[in-house]
Amino acid sequence: MSLLIKGGTVVTAEKIFRSDVFCEKEQITRIGPGLEAPQGATVIDATGKYVFPGFIDPHVHAYLPLKTTTSKDTYETASRAALVGGTTCFIDFCTPERGQDPRAALDLWDSKSEGKAFCDYSYHLAVTGFDARTASQIREVILRGITSFKVYLAYKDSVDIGDGLDDVLRFARENNILTMAHCEDAAAIDALQKKLVAAGRRGPQWHYVSRPPEIEAGGTRRFLEAAGKAGALAYVVHLSCEEALNEAVAARKRGVNVWIETLISFLLLDKSHAELPDFEGAKYVVSPPLREKKNQDILWTAIREGVVDVVSSDHAPFDFAGQKSLGENDFTKIPNGMPTLEDRVNLLFTYGFKEKRFDLRRLVQVASTTPAKLFGLYPKKGALRVGSDADLVVYDPDYVGTISRRTHHMNVDYNPFEGQVIRGRPLTVAVRGRIVVREGRFVGPVGWGRFVPRGPCQPS
Ligand SMILES: [Zn+2]
Repeated sequence: MSLLIKGGTVVTAEKIFRSDVFCEKEQITRIGPGLEAPQGATVIDATGKYVFPGFIDPHVHAYLPLKTTTSKDTYETASRAALVGGTTCFIDFCTPERGQDPRAALDLWDSKSEGKAFCDYSYHLAVTGFDARTASQIREVILRGITSFKVYLAYKDSVDIGDGLDDVLRFARENNILTMAHCEDAAAIDALQKKLVAAGRRGPQWHYVSRPPEIEAGGTRRFLEAAGKAGALAYVVHLSCEEALNEAVAARKRGVNVWIETLISFLLLDKSHAELPDFEGAKYVVSPPLREKKNQDILWTAIREGVVDVVSSDHAPFDFAGQKSLGENDFTKIPNGMPTLEDRVNLLFTYGFKEKRFDLRRLVQVASTTPAKLFGLYPKKGALRVGSDADLVVYDPDYVGTISRRTHHMNVDYNPFEGQVIRGRPLTVAVRGRIVVREGRFVGPVGWGRFVPRGPCQPS
């Protein structure tokens, strides 16, 4: 099986150039002008198109069981949606219940993914409790190629790491593991939520009020002070606002090794969405919450200037009917999350690149190469080089379309970006040399996606 992509404009994190790309046995084997296709090769004419390395989404919930319900996508539906949107590899969160052996959680996640994914994938390990026994279990998980942790400073009484933070960071440092953190203060939120609900403030618009920017800023400060003290590699997930950004930047100036992630939703949606009447706002209930609109420009600028490193989706799909509605009489019971995996790249291309907020190399950096480096996938993934996996996106910059739940591939009954125009989309997508999207349509074989064991973080 060989594949020749001819005449496209190749975009990498470093440069933009006209070139052909030839792939054989799942890898890129030649890059250069005027390449000839051997007999039997599939040839794609990419004239007038961009050729990107496959995009990587390091923050996806493909399987997300909550106490009350489970997110709607399966590995099959999530990976199909990812590919149509140009994402060829994502990283999910393997999350043990408190007290559960992380190895058993890993087996559970494997049972959800193996043989079912269309694109490649990996997991982060959420550390929800830490002692001598879990330490040795976690070492085994690391040996299976899972080289990043996630801790929650939020979600009291479920996954919150509580007093265990320092121990986890010390262990992470000793084992050369990158630790990601959800930086909101669980106890402060809990107190605010109880007060609001008791006062009869139960609609989705109160979700924001229960998680103000100061709480995220305080969580960010606490995490980065602890990471600095432990000398650990730190990654702030889904940073949403100026207050938290200032904390992360200050920590970086003090010498803390910290990388910052924001979400496509924080760049384009704001708190007014969660205030929509008739419970419509529930579609937009996420944590941290959608913020004041003024934060959007601050985050776009931070991306352009290299302050924010990664833009991911935090895909977490719950139906409006039957799932979001669990919180109809109490916003604290609304499952948190939005379906955003499919549209991340097209929205970044349209509202980032085409609106001249950054150039195409920056797009590749924040949505492919930097996550590949930080999460130990580079240069197997996140690169368009000889020897890299042939994960490629031939991208049509002239396409104009509209996002809608009626046409999206995610298995969920609404799209938070309903009606948004996109100016560009993937035309052809290959995963390890195999074409899985053709003319924008999904054609992939089930089970082609594989678990990718990851190496250590490569700070960049
Ligand atoms: Zn998340």
